[in-house]
Amino acid sequence: MKQLPRIRFAQLPTAVEALPRLSAQFGGPQLFVKRDDQTGLAFGGNKSRKLEFLVAEAQANGARTLITAGAVQSNHCRQTAAAAARFGFDCILLLTTTGVKTKLPASSPPHEEDPGLSLRTPESYTSNLMLDKLLGAEIVWTETNRREEKLQETFNHAWQAGRRPYLIPYGGSNPVGASAYVYALIELLKQSHETVLEGLIPDWIVIPSSSGGTQAGLVLGAHISGYRGRVLGISIDEPAHVLKERVAKLAMSTAELLGERVSIDVENILVNDDYLGGGYGVMGESEKRAIQMFARLEGLLLDPVYTGRASAGLIDLLERNYFNRSDTILFWHTGGTPALFADPYQAMIL
Ligand SMILES: *Cc1c(COP(=O)(O)O)cnc(C)c1O
Repeated sequence: MKQLPRIRFAQLPTAVEALPRLSAQFGGPQLFVKRDDQTGLAFGGNKSRKLEFLVAEAQANGARTLITAGAVQSNHCRQTAAAAARFGFDCILLLTTTGVKTKLPASSPPHEEDPGLSLRTPESYTSNLMLDKLLGAEIVWTETNRREEKLQETFNHAWQAGRRPYLIPYGGSNPVGASAYVYALIELLKQSHETVLEGLIPDWIVIPSSSGGTQAGLVLGAHISGYRGRVLGISIDEPAHVLKERVAKLAMSTAELLGERVSIDVENILVNDDYLGGGYGVMGESEKRAIQMFARLEGLLLDPVYTGRASAGLIDLLERNYFNRSDTILFWHTGGTPALFADPYQAMIL
């Protein structure tokens, strides 16, 4: 594999732990978890791995400002802000105002950066949004339908102001970011003998999948390493056909970047979109139940948006005997736990 520029700051390899009490609930498959919520960098998460490569590329390009975009409670934005602080970049975050219920008080707060725009900015800065500010990021607000245009505009402004911006896409999911999960899959296979897996190779890897970089990297890593299990993405916000296509394309372009010749067929990408519920960021009863089960049976904290939904899907599939009784299943914890404390989730979780 071609070596890409990389700054090693994530806490790797992440631990693999057994989930015996949760496994016992379903009387069959053995469940494990890979703790990518513990990758370090401002509470950790899957974006640490991607940022090792993205920040290295930004540095190599002589950039001085990292720009990225996401939802109000974006973990990716929080971790990008932290990486920017750590490596001496300015950071501009473009946040969309949908996905979080906000009350608009009579005296709504002034809109940052764009006072003329009538947007529903959150009245309180909690959790990831609070951390973005604490980490020194500049925040620009946008509504969903203008976000592409606004992102370009923000980039152009920064460029014209001589700030040497580097644009990181949503979720850090371009070939540079996705390549991190090629290495993550190889890391998992390498560590199987030194962990509770005791040499077992999981039959299944279950992950939340959204911008697709995590799944694309794992799928490509599986091809390159000859991993024989399946990588099942539980879709967070996209119909399966859209996400499958995105993952396959990204896996192929990542292969090209790494100088690997592989052919990845859309039909071999496993995505389940049965658990979209009320849409992105809307925590329903099934997410709540799954988060409570992981917390109360294993003392493990998930997040309301991604791992909450993916674990709800996993639990449903277990209850419907989707897996063989002898299967080993690795749930890849991608992080996001700070959002547990965000409005409106914290009030709904109990
Ligand atoms: C970004 C994120 C994901 C989704 O990863 P993608 O690579 O965008 O599919 C999953 N879980 C958490 C906690 C995230 O922050």
